[in-house]
Amino acid sequence: MMYHSLNNNAPQVSFREAVVNGLAPDKGLYFPLEIKQLPDSFFEKIKDLDHTTIAFEAIKQFVGDDIPETDLKEIVREVLSFDFPLVEVEDGIHALELYHGPTLAFKDIGARFMARCLGYFNRNKETQEKVTVLVATSGDTGGAVANGFYNVNGVEVVILYPSGKVSDIQEKQLTTLGKNISAIEVDGTFDDCQAMVKKAFLDGDFEGKRTLTSANSINVARWLPQMFYYFFAYRALKTQGKQVIFSVPSGNFGNICAGMMAQKLGLPIHHFVTGTNANKIVPDYLKTGDYVPQPSVATISNAMDVGAPSNFIRIQKIYNNDLAELRSQLSGYSYSDHETREGMQYLFKHYEYIADPHGAIGYLALKEYLKDDPKVTGVFLETAHPVKFLDVIPENIVAHIQLPEAIKALLHKEKKAEKISTYQQLKNSLLAD
Ligand SMILES: *Cc1c(COP(=O)(O)O)cnc(C)c1O
Repeated sequence: MMYHSLNNNAPQVSFREAVVNGLAPDKGLYFPLEIKQLPDSFFEKIKDLDHTTIAFEAIKQFVGDDIPETDLKEIVREVLSFDFPLVEVEDGIHALELYHGPTLAFKDIGARFMARCLGYFNRNKETQEKVTVLVATSGDTGGAVANGFYNVNGVEVVILYPSGKVSDIQEKQLTTLGKNISAIEVDGTFDDCQAMVKKAFLDGDFEGKRTLTSANSINVARWLPQMFYYFFAYRALKTQGKQVIFSVPSGNFGNICAGMMAQKLGLPIHHFVTGTNANKIVPDYLKTGDYVPQPSVATISNAMDVGAPSNFIRIQKIYNNDLAELRSQLSGYSYSDHETREGMQYLFKHYEYIADPHGAIGYLALKEYLKDDPKVTGVFLETAHPVKFLDVIPENIVAHIQLPEAIKALLHKEKKAEKISTYQQLKNSLLAD
């Protein structure tokens, strides 16, 4: 399988190079050159297949010869070592809970898959040639990346986070792993962390000493495995002949775009719905036809505070830059923080279902779409465990949220982080060992 750059000004590369490069040299996102539909027989027997088999069949054409099938199957098996419950919240409406992974975030899947692919590609390298994944986090992504790469051979991870600006749970997730994961606590904001990471990538002094790479969602190895969720939900649904709609709370639009890839593979998805917070560039585009990126606005669903969604260009590619075609496949709605809180209250009051702010937006968007098309089966993606957002979930609901065992154990572990405040300190630290 070859990939091309969506900026059309870079050489085609295989999966391996696309993963190692992250972004193409012309700064474009990589996209597969062709997408082969899976055979009908696969969908006919999907209810009898296990998660590993389904995921392996979905991903294998995108990996091609770069990882042998037995190794790829083992990678997929390791990545998927937890549950993906589909909970019927009300008649015909289901929550697909994607937060049962090690850091309680749906990003666990992509991070774990990417980590194992890089680990495979680096399997024979000497210690001094280790790849260093450098990431800045405002909270969630860092934990998923740290955990995903934990103990992976040949890869070191250095995570920068803003001191005092991540939750206690998130800080523990970043700072207690040890081994190949180190945390750097920056006296500054998330933007300061991000600026340091960008500077390091451009700094020639690391050449020959450390190979720096990033692990953000533009990487095909983090993006594509998100297709699995849609297959798993479809397998678990009792559709009784009804059409299936997916509602996806979106920020960078990587998750929903992976769903569209699943549809390209032949998964019978009737329509997509996206819910956003006040960062509503895509819903506005669907309404007006004008695509106008904006500076991001802070909301209580902060993992979706994105003003220029990086994966939108992939969605345009999937629908041939045809707005009418896109509108026939995707509806979009946006919600204020107030509406998001009301959504959480509604779900709790009527169905005793506790949603996090992101999942609540997925639910609200699905309900809005169903007003016009009630005879379908709807699935909204629950992208994070509510326990990670206690400070913004209404108090009457917080009292009912149970701390998962894995998190309880984490809270007793000792934090290890290096404190820095300047880029030079980061550089010294990276060049020291
Ligand atoms: C990252 C994230 C999202 C948004 O996913 P995209 O792929 O960026 O659209 C939604 N919810 C949570 C909890 C997230 O962490």
